[in-house]
Amino acid sequence: MNELLVATGNRGKLREFEALLRDIEVRVYSLVDFPEVPPVEEDGISFAENAMKKARNAALATGKPALADDSGLVVDALGGRPGVHSARFAGSGADDGANNAKLLRELAGVPRESRRAAFHCVIALCLPEGECQTFAGELSGIVLDAPRGEGGFGYDPLFLVPEYGRTLAELPLALKNRISHRGRALNELKDFLQAHAGS
Ligand code: IMP
Repeated sequence: MNELLVATGNRGKLREFEALLRDIEVRVYSLVDFPEVPPVEEDGISFAENAMKKARNAALATGKPALADDSGLVVDALGGRPGVHSARFAGSGADDGANNAKLLRELAGVPRESRRAAFHCVIALCLPEGECQTFAGELSGIVLDAPRGEGGFGYDPLFLVPEYGRTLAELPLALKNRISHRGRALNELKDFLQAHAGS
């Protein structure tokens, strides 16, 4: 594999993928290079389904192997919600503030020992022929009852990583990227690509 299309419109994610792929012998494209790729609806019931849907769509439209990811927060006390609906928990077009406020409302009165949650990420790599491989990462933590920290994005200020005694929004970005669900899935992908680059 000597060419790879990163199928994301999110600049932050694209930068993370490019950093990871820097030391792998592969030419990297993004959706900016292929504006004709049609958008897909993220209506799958799992992270893997959504990631494969996005990667397969891009691979079929361009004839190049394509990567895409899907991620979100799975909260035990909410039966796994918001899950695949994390980006739009408080409604379509909701921002991080509204999503966090809804999460706090839904967990109001839930004691700390029952506020376990995990971030999940699945990255899919699909070939133009339709075959896909997935790579998963997870980070476990606790949802606090008030935000802490200025860094990160999304639910980071509410997500305590017990090993560090800090929220993801309080951890330096390089550390977050090393331990996060996305960082872990990216490492799995990197191992795979290193074994298959050039083949
Ligand atoms: P998507 O993977 O772009 O569909 O994003 C899913 C949503 O999950 C984001 O909009 C955030 O609300 C949440 N999310 C995913 N990863 C993180 C993270 O690392 N920190 C905080 N929130 C995240």
